[in-house]
Amino acid sequence: MSAAEKPVAFLDLAAQQKRLGPVLKQRVDAVFEHCRFVMGPEVAELEQRLAEWCGAAECVGVSSGTDALQIVMMAENIGRGDAVFLPAFTYTATAEVPLVLGATPVFVDVDPDTFQIDPVHLRARIKAVRQAGRLTPRAIVGVDLFGQPAPWAELRSIAEEEGLFLLSDCAQAFGAALNGRPLGREAVATTLSFFPSKPLGGYGDGGAILTDDPERAELYRSLRTHGEGKTRYQVMRTGMNGRLDTIQAAVLLAKLDFFKEDLARREHVARAYDTGLKEHVQVPVRVADSASAWAVYAVLLKNQAEREAMQARLSAKGVPSAIYYPLPLHRQPAYQDHHDGEALPVSDDLATRILALPVHPDLTDAEVARVIAAVRG
Ligand SMILES: *Cc1c(COP(=O)(O)O)cnc(C)c1O
Repeated sequence: MSAAEKPVAFLDLAAQQKRLGPVLKQRVDAVFEHCRFVMGPEVAELEQRLAEWCGAAECVGVSSGTDALQIVMMAENIGRGDAVFLPAFTYTATAEVPLVLGATPVFVDVDPDTFQIDPVHLRARIKAVRQAGRLTPRAIVGVDLFGQPAPWAELRSIAEEEGLFLLSDCAQAFGAALNGRPLGREAVATTLSFFPSKPLGGYGDGGAILTDDPERAELYRSLRTHGEGKTRYQVMRTGMNGRLDTIQAAVLLAKLDFFKEDLARREHVARAYDTGLKEHVQVPVRVADSASAWAVYAVLLKNQAEREAMQARLSAKGVPSAIYYPLPLHRQPAYQDHHDGEALPVSDDLATRILALPVHPDLTDAEVARVIAAVRG
């Protein structure tokens, strides 16, 4: 790295704020003026904009992507003795929520090319759990990993055949599309996260739930506010404090004005990487008929030693990289005792070879060229 070159950022929230400029300031200032910091008008406005984006009938803003998952599972009464099928190669929250509710996550392996849940293995896992007879299969969580869609057509037929609730953990993929249709309506309920590093990220924690079912939406609204009924101090069910802050809604409304541009910029960066890197590393395999939101641009190295060498070389050249995920969930200290011992070889293998490169919309073309040059060595 020459003295003139500052390190490339993995995520550049300062540059982003500068780009959003007065729109962001106006939105946030408006909240400080009306002072309705909890459930202010920006929350309903954001819910409407998100529902419109994907054509969903209902959107419920909540406090995080994790709480979104929890509210959806609470609404289905998922708990002790229930099996929730989910990929082993995902963020911890996907498995944490069923465990918090007393249910058991059943880990499913993923596709070696797209990294998405493997429907063939999912079928086998459901069958085995039914045969063992210890747990009741209740739900499937499809995770739209790294910004690409899970295999929704297959997941829907399996859920229907097996009578299971289907949930989309779309924390990483709002803005993506499948068959020309924006993600948000692939499952009975879809959960989003607005953690700052997600494609649609706020400046703090936040999340949302999308659904076409008005009865479920009403239940989600009740659960996010302590299970309240028609009046505030009527408690209909055990809920939680799961509301989305007005300030976060205001930030997200500003960011939505730039979201199409952001997605196009991420796609531009991803294409430049594809072209520049495909001879040197395994570049991401695109899910058919889809557009990615590019939460993560992950390449595969030949083995762990090559990944270590690559990370060291990139770091010396001021290029950051990250490992999503260094441990699949069935190997996590907190979760391994809940795993039934099924072999999950693809998830194990990916964890040793995968490496994420910076893909945010504030990367300049010069920085993209620097990343490519650094990977090529
Ligand atoms: C980020 C993430 C979550 C959790 O979202 P938070 O808003 O951080 O609670 C859940 N699932 C997946 C796949 C995620 O990437």
